[in-house]
Amino acid sequence: GTRVASVRAATDADAAAFPTATATATATATPTATFTDHSPIDGAPLAEIARGGPGEARAAVAAALDAFPGWAATPPAERAGLLHAVADGVEARADELARVETADNGALLRSHRRGVMPRVAHNLRYFADRLLALGHDDFDTRGHTNHVSWDPAGPAVLITPWNAPLMLASWKIAPALAAGDTVILKPAEWTPLTASLFADITRDAGLPPGVFNVVQGYGPEVGAPLVADPGVRRVSFTGSVPTARRIAAAAAENLVPCSFELGGKSPLLVFADADLELAADLAVEQYDNAGQVCLAATRILVEEPVRDAFLGHVLDRVRELRQGDPRDEATRIGPNIHPRHIERVDGFVRRALEAGAKAVTGGGPNTELGGTYYLPTLLTDVAQDSEIVQEEVFGPVLTLQTFPDGDEDEAVRLANGTRFGLAATLATGDPARADRIAARLVAGTVWVNCFFVRDLSAPFGGSRQSGVGREGGDWSFDFYCDLKNTVTAP
Ligand code: NAD
Repeated sequence: GTRVASVRAATDADAAAFPTATATATATATPTATFTDHSPIDGAPLAEIARGGPGEARAAVAAALDAFPGWAATPPAERAGLLHAVADGVEARADELARVETADNGALLRSHRRGVMPRVAHNLRYFADRLLALGHDDFDTRGHTNHVSWDPAGPAVLITPWNAPLMLASWKIAPALAAGDTVILKPAEWTPLTASLFADITRDAGLPPGVFNVVQGYGPEVGAPLVADPGVRRVSFTGSVPTARRIAAAAAENLVPCSFELGGKSPLLVFADADLELAADLAVEQYDNAGQVCLAATRILVEEPVRDAFLGHVLDRVRELRQGDPRDEATRIGPNIHPRHIERVDGFVRRALEAGAKAVTGGGPNTELGGTYYLPTLLTDVAQDSEIVQEEVFGPVLTLQTFPDGDEDEAVRLANGTRFGLAATLATGDPARADRIAARLVAGTVWVNCFFVRDLSAPFGGSRQSGVGREGGDWSFDFYCDLKNTVTAP
């Protein structure tokens, strides 16, 4: 395996060439501690990762603070140019990034190659261009000019999960760097690799030392001290609700603004007037990434009269789903992230079955493939207030409930009946109904007869416990800025 330094600076891949980090790291008890990163595909060890602790957290924040004045003062055109250079680097190494990401998190290689890595580069270019488009917001008040400016806020701590590691990180890195903030990224401990490769790319692209930093390690050991550090001015987190609570409490001490993208239990509403083939395609799409998608519409709510016809179409499709090695072009569903995660997923399913649910397909691990592969599962006979309907499973597990013929109120009541509000998907042939229902749903994104299409300039995030704030376009950009209004007399 490769050794990966716990703290990476834009200057060098190795913490030894990073004076602040080295100085602090040698003073702590953790510099030689490591953990082993395994592939979910076959359990093979991939790398020994240096395991950061409070010392590395302090060192990274110190480096980001040192670099901040220089980066904040860098002219926008130059900052944007550097972000484009980083995007060039991502494109040049896209195939390597895709292969490493697939080995590390088990998602499909073809989607990393064709979708994800180009999108990471696009995210960087988009926010570089957004930066250059700023500055036209002057307006007049009784002859006085209001000039609005977007001042960089300071060091930003970005904490990300394992289900789409570099993609989710790039939604935060790109606007933070474009805004003039310096960045400390703490990737998930199950998927550390592409973050460190990205640090190499930023260094090779010429990003000044300390502007982009990666700290590897476990959440409680290094994530917690990072978010509690008084030098930090922004925290952006994607992950689970319990972790968000801890981060919010720590950030509250220093009154640091937080942006949270959290879990979901989103509905797929299938009305009797829907194209049922399309509705079934949408249902089966929810197994993508082995169900490890925050936005996944895991609760199917189908209008009673079309239940059996719809279910028939879904089961036809599930039979065709190829599960296996994510590097194989023919594979539709790869492994889940970790044996511990499989146990968690299976625990939800076992308890649901004990409570009276029926598995019309799947219902357990894929015994042929073993390890971390879980069968695409669909459970019927589930109650609205049951655990399986209320809690995020984050695996290839869908539930199916019905609502009475013509009863939109009941459809909406079920759809809105969890503590989440991330997304909702509707299948209906009636545009007026789509508008009516969309207006009543508690969700950050509503898709009508489609799923997952997302423009970077649109707001993205969750209501209720699915999040705080929105990412995307100006919503991301403004979060990383301290906005200022300068009023000048005539
Ligand atoms: P998690 O909350 O366990 O971990 C996420 C990150 O937080 C990891 O990097 C982890 O090391 C870190 N962390 C853990 N404890 C910490 C602490 N005390 N202080 C600081 N950092 C800490 O989540 P996960 O299991 O990795 O990710 C899955 C979750 O992420 C699901 O709930 C999923 O819905 C959610 N998610 C949301 C979105 C979205 O955009 N809304 C996208 C993807 C995933």
